[in-house]
Amino acid sequence: MIPGINRPSAVHVSKTAVLNNYHKIKDALPEGTKVLAVVKADAYGHGAVPLSLALSESGVDGFCVAISDEARELRQAGIIEPLYILGLTPAEEAWNLAQEEIGVTVSSLDYLKKVIALAPNQVDHPLLIHLKADTGMGRIGLNQAEDLQILIDFISDHQDYLQLESVFTHFATADTVSDYDQEIMNQQNQAFQAIRAKLDFSQLKQHPFFHQSNSALSLWHPDLTLDAARLGIAMYGVNTTNYDLDLPYSLEAALSLTTEIVYCKKVAPGQTISYGATYQAESQEWIATLPIGYADGWPRCMTGFEVLVDGHPCPIVGRVCMDQCMIRLPHHYPIGTPVTLIGHNKDKVIAVEDIAKYANTIGHEILCGLSNRLPRIYH
Ligand code: PLP
Repeated sequence: MIPGINRPSAVHVSKTAVLNNYHKIKDALPEGTKVLAVVKADAYGHGAVPLSLALSESGVDGFCVAISDEARELRQAGIIEPLYILGLTPAEEAWNLAQEEIGVTVSSLDYLKKVIALAPNQVDHPLLIHLKADTGMGRIGLNQAEDLQILIDFISDHQDYLQLESVFTHFATADTVSDYDQEIMNQQNQAFQAIRAKLDFSQLKQHPFFHQSNSALSLWHPDLTLDAARLGIAMYGVNTTNYDLDLPYSLEAALSLTTEIVYCKKVAPGQTISYGATYQAESQEWIATLPIGYADGWPRCMTGFEVLVDGHPCPIVGRVCMDQCMIRLPHHYPIGTPVTLIGHNKDKVIAVEDIAKYANTIGHEILCGLSNRLPRIYH
């Protein structure tokens, strides 16, 4: 999709905020904990290449992405740090990824057998492997230490080709808002500890590292982080619980979303606005049109949510269209007046968490949903 650079709607990203958050979280983790920056989905809409280059200069230990194309994009941009793919990749890709020293997540013996069957006669780099243990997320991974051990033994039998980098798990309820969350989190933590205690790496040339922490665990349970944290949403300055839990320390929101009024009109009482004619002006009202809609990732369910114009909260009226939406102003404002959908405007602020709460979702989805039609401007 082509970015709309001739339209006044844009995403602004503060690299400084991301770096400040990264340093703050790293400093609060137990000493020596590695930080792997999670920059999948274009760094949650912030731009994976510019942010990864900035994090690389700041000494981050490595990067996690979701798919191989994202990993290659970073290698092509000059990222030399350890880089690994959290999702599963086809075995057919393995030796190309090994060549680029891109680590893969492994969840089955069949995959490893296939990779070995496809191996060239001689390899310059072994395939870097991150073994996934499923301790309760139910997504990918093996849940029995005995099954993981079979994979470890297979790796140790093929050490010219395969190198075990890490063993990891992922929590379903790391943002422990309720007692139920806490209970599941404890169960997963205990399950991973039990697995770790049973695994035997004595036949391997090097011992793998262990990791289980996402943002929520790193923020609210830093003591459970193990050797490395996989930091996503918190690095971008967003509270994954939409404020249900207070942050243990402040973070800076890295992203803002702005546009401008492109049309402003006075409507008569009774005039309806947008598809479905669901909104009807009660009295004479000033209605402005904004050049942003659900094709930009501004969700259709945001009707009624207030955006900021000159420090005034102004409700979105009528249905959000694909490329435009309408707001009610307190009085006339000229075309070109700035409008804030995320971020600061005079003494007011709209946080990603406010939008996520209104849309009944999490900040991750709002950020990842901001489409490439919105240009990214770095500060
Ligand atoms: N680790 C894994 C396996 C993930 O899937 C994700 C994100 O979805 C993360 C870490 C980062 O999570 P967060 O953005 O909540 O820090």
